[in-house]
Amino acid sequence: TIPLLYKLKKLTPAPPSSSSIPNPSQTLNDKIGLVRGDITTLEVDAIVNAANESLLGGGGVDGAIHKAAGPGLLKECKGLGGCDTGSAKITDAYKLPCNRVIHAVGPIWNRDWAEKSEKDLRGCYTTSLQLAAENRCKSIAFSSLSTGVYRYPSRDAAQVAIKAVKDFLEGEDGDKLDKVVFCTFTDKDADAYDEWLPKFFPPV
Ligand code: ADP
Repeated sequence: TIPLLYKLKKLTPAPPSSSSIPNPSQTLNDKIGLVRGDITTLEVDAIVNAANESLLGGGGVDGAIHKAAGPGLLKECKGLGGCDTGSAKITDAYKLPCNRVIHAVGPIWNRDWAEKSEKDLRGCYTTSLQLAAENRCKSIAFSSLSTGVYRYPSRDAAQVAIKAVKDFLEGEDGDKLDKVVFCTFTDKDADAYDEWLPKFFPPV
């Protein structure tokens, strides 16, 4: 089982008037988790990899996932024909403790194309959640897509991620997922989720 820091932390809810988030959800709190560490160790149904368009492996979390999964993963990925930015594809998990890997291709951050970057990042989260639901994965853990070498600002990325998850859980397929975990690795991402999760999902 995975530790869920968010649920354990006693956070002071912001007063409603100071919240800029429309309709924060306390009822969906149980479905949200926040962990810090190596996503390859999580025993969830699906983990989400920050892949690149080739789907043929890379550095960062992608490298860690391929290393822990073993060569079978790269072999399967070679048959997928790549993936568009803003979308995702699903594979088996081989030697990983999870059941499936969802390979999402986040945008390379570009301040001149901020709207396009945001749309693509949101697309990664939404497509990954849909793929999980379609494949009967009940629990899913996301790495912080695009916030590494793709340079997406962590505070902005966290808000896009959390909003996309909230919208999905409130939508028609939301009841197909029991747990959505955000897995952070660096200080800047951990700080961003500490700041924004309680605004979207205020502690009860
Ligand atoms: P991108 O190219 O999408 O930015 P990166 O792999 O460089 O992908 O980074 C994505 C995020 O994954 C970064 O926030 C990075 O700190 C994080 N990360 C790197 N290794 C791991 C790991 N083993 N488990 C979880 N997150 C990781």
